[in-house]
Amino acid sequence: MVDQEKVNPAVRLLLDGIGENPDREGLIETPDRIARMYEEIYGGLDESAKVHLRKTFHAKDNEMIVEKEIPFYSTCEHHLLPFFGQAHLAYIPDGKVAGLSKLARTVDVYARRPQIQERLTGQIADALMSCLHPKGVMVLIEAEHLCMSMRGIKKPGSRTVTVVKRGEFLENPELARTFYAMLGRA
Ligand code: ZN
Repeated sequence: MVDQEKVNPAVRLLLDGIGENPDREGLIETPDRIARMYEEIYGGLDESAKVHLRKTFHAKDNEMIVEKEIPFYSTCEHHLLPFFGQAHLAYIPDGKVAGLSKLARTVDVYARRPQIQERLTGQIADALMSCLHPKGVMVLIEAEHLCMSMRGIKKPGSRTVTVVKRGEFLENPELARTFYAMLGRA
């Protein structure tokens, strides 16, 4: 839960600190708005992917399942600026599959908190491994970081790609190639 009583005065102080007048008309409700917005964009801190991945279905065959182009929005923990893009997931079930919407939910649980892209990628893979006990998982995330686009090296449109493999994807490069081909990246 976001503690409004802490966030409100902190945002006021922040506005004051950058040389703004927190009492002017346009800013007077901003601390309140930000506190409410944080409930949503940092709501993943109170959530567990286990809740979403608890309900599973029995799978007869254990072919690779790919859920691609899952849009997500997260916040870089170094600058508190957004990074956003698409997550692509693959897993090879071992008798258990999750509902497709639950995979997107899992991405959200970990995206909606202060994050770095590398950890986000790993946490999604680990959640799938521990809840579905599949034979393997692979997660690829591509994202634009506003802390790179609007400040610092200013490279708008450049995207950061992170990849995490678990289980059979580590042992068998053919599986990773199949996944890349399904993403049109082969
Ligand atoms: Zn950053």
